[in-house]
Amino acid sequence: MLKAPVNKIIPFSNVDGPGNRTSIFLQSCPFRCYYCHNPETINMCNHCGDCVDLCPVHALSIKKGKVVWDSTICVDCDTCIKTCKYMSSPKIKEMTVKELLVEISKQKGFIRGITVSGGECMNHAEFLLELFKKAKKEGYSCLIDSNGIHDFSKYEELLDLSDGVMLDVKAYDDQFHEYLTGASNKQVQKNLNYLLKKNKLVEVRTVLLPNSPKQNEITVTEVSKIIQDKTLYKLLRYRPFGVREEGIKEIGNTITTEKEANKLAKKAIQLGAKNTVVV
Ligand code: SF4
Ligand code: SF4
Repeated sequence: MLKAPVNKIIPFSNVDGPGNRTSIFLQSCPFRCYYCHNPETINMCNHCGDCVDLCPVHALSIKKGKVVWDSTICVDCDTCIKTCKYMSSPKIKEMTVKELLVEISKQKGFIRGITVSGGECMNHAEFLLELFKKAKKEGYSCLIDSNGIHDFSKYEELLDLSDGVMLDVKAYDDQFHEYLTGASNKQVQKNLNYLLKKNKLVEVRTVLLPNSPKQNEITVTEVSKIIQDKTLYKLLRYRPFGVREEGIKEIGNTITTEKEANKLAKKAIQLGAKNTVVV
């Protein structure tokens, strides 16, 4: 039976798309963004066992060479996540679509829909298709939160079924994108245009970095010219909280100023991206 590794489920979120939504975070991501706020979603746990003895309530153990997490005694202190050197978590649950729908149904009547995020949820596109088929039947709207690394034109059925994609454009300059994330943005750019054409782009997000004003400007300019007023453009001020050490070293520990963000939002609006907001 089809399963996906679920890192966490946030029952109620109002920052992952329109309305109140249940957000589901699937494990694994091909990017290594310096400013990643949930680096524990990047890699699958390699069962090294380093975190096991650090758990203050003995919720972790090793059975047959694998780390086992006992959610019934875990106190969510996140010591295991904070000490994992592999950007992973021992608290990942392999779940079927049916099991996930049971979790979602606990919020039924109080949410507009679901948003699947990560990690990179499109790493599990086959699972998403099955999930969305069933979730739509239950009346939930279904959004994909993606970094755009996978070619969306190959997933027409999933896209048609979904209510749209929230796409990160972390940098428009390919070299800078590669420095920031470890991967090229050529596919991200293709997806940006493709999703717009398909009318499936719910929002675009760019994190504004405090130490890279030139790159911020290039990204905001190029994205604005492409999206115009056809979708929401969120400019997110970099905040160093929860960012991994390497990220702090590269980007710094200051917040992008409101002044810088507002200046770029003004520019985006002037270029035609009328639905630009600073977050
Ligand atoms: S989050 Fe849970 S499993 Fe991890 S160290 Fe804390 S109590 Fe143990
Ligand atoms: S979560 Fe990290 S430290 Fe713990 S077993 Fe997995 S890879 Fe090792």
